[in-house]
Amino acid sequence: MITTVVLGMLCVHLLCFCVMFLLISRRLSGKKWGMEVFALGNLLLGLAYILQLLGGPANWGLLSVINHTLTLCAPAAYVLGALRFFDQPTPVWRPLFALAGTYTAMQVLVYWVLGAEARHALLAGSCALLFLAMTVAALYAGRTFAKDLRVEMWVFAILIGGICILNAAKLLLILYGGMAALDMNSGFQRTFYIYMSFLGTVLPPSAVWLILRRLTDELRAMAARDPLTRLLNRRGLMDGLDAHFRSRTARPAYLLVVDVDLFKRINDTYGHNVGDLVLRHVADVLSANARQGDLTCRLGGEEFAVICLDTDRDGALQLAERIRAAIELSEVSGVSPDRPIRCTVTIGVSGDFASTQALDASMQQADGALYRGKTSGRNRVEWGSAQEAR
Ligand code: GH3
Ligand code: MG
Ligand code: MG
Repeated sequence: MITTVVLGMLCVHLLCFCVMFLLISRRLSGKKWGMEVFALGNLLLGLAYILQLLGGPANWGLLSVINHTLTLCAPAAYVLGALRFFDQPTPVWRPLFALAGTYTAMQVLVYWVLGAEARHALLAGSCALLFLAMTVAALYAGRTFAKDLRVEMWVFAILIGGICILNAAKLLLILYGGMAALDMNSGFQRTFYIYMSFLGTVLPPSAVWLILRRLTDELRAMAARDPLTRLLNRRGLMDGLDAHFRSRTARPAYLLVVDVDLFKRINDTYGHNVGDLVLRHVADVLSANARQGDLTCRLGGEEFAVICLDTDRDGALQLAERIRAAIELSEVSGVSPDRPIRCTVTIGVSGDFASTQALDASMQQADGALYRGKTSGRNRVEWGSAQEAR
């Protein structure tokens, strides 16, 4: 009786969260991060348990066959949803239908050849293997491509590991004790479904938490970047500098202000869209030439900044010269090949500075140097002097 009530509550949970996942996925226009597939997984498992409640004690029949197939397809759907959550474009319906067809055929075969017990043992064994694979995958994800979700992946691995162990135990009980292991009033079945109910309560809010984390991380990243060039914007630059200077071993930084020469003429001659391509091209050259860890930023309009960290005066000047030469020598891609476009930049370099608060003064130094470069003929690198910081 208790087990039946627990199972009924689990169904309600699964179906409620199925609707919630669907509602969330509808709000996530474009990328849905697998929420619609998690909803499908909940629906399949919810339906499987409804069939179990309707079918009564474990027996052979159409309802029971469908129940087993749905029970195995549900975790498979969760795996596919997880792949989509991690941005893998995975098909859903074809693999699920293939699994459902194959597993239904296997059930019929095993039942006729080995009997009823073997069919139940097959389900417990298959689920144990699938959950084992999911546990290992969660641990692997936390150590490799989802390091930012390490804690969450560990929690998932422990929770899924629990259901893997319970399925393995069910397999052994069936093999050694027969169908009695499936009696809904047995202590084992009670433990099994209470644990499933616990998972049904804990896992769906955890999935919602993962989506929330993804959304807030994306919003933060968007707020720190310029949409045209994907370089940092001023806010992202300040955050990056703060992070650098928080380290006690941080060395002083140098600021390069990079301004495209006669950019207005490019806009006037080729149009605003080509102007945008030129800005993207300059951003790409900056990113390609800056060292790992340096901060590249679009300050606004056709003005960019590079902050060189962990270098000295000569290193900063060399980087500025490398950028200037690379832009002068490269062609802007994406414009028609018979009309190659090139541009040049003038770069003002500041003296060293050792705190985020000192950035304004360094900006004035670099701007002063930039102005000198413009009035001396453009396409040059100029070094800022302390007098230029007013
Ligand atoms: P100088 O060599 O002295 O720097 O001359 P300049 O023409 O580059 O400088 P000016 O400040 O006169 O012109 C900058 C132009 O950049 C004016 C503005 O319309 C254009 N601009 C600003 N933001 C954007 C943008 O996002 N896209 C495009 N295509 N143009 C932009
Ligand atoms: Mg300019
Ligand atoms: Mg300018």
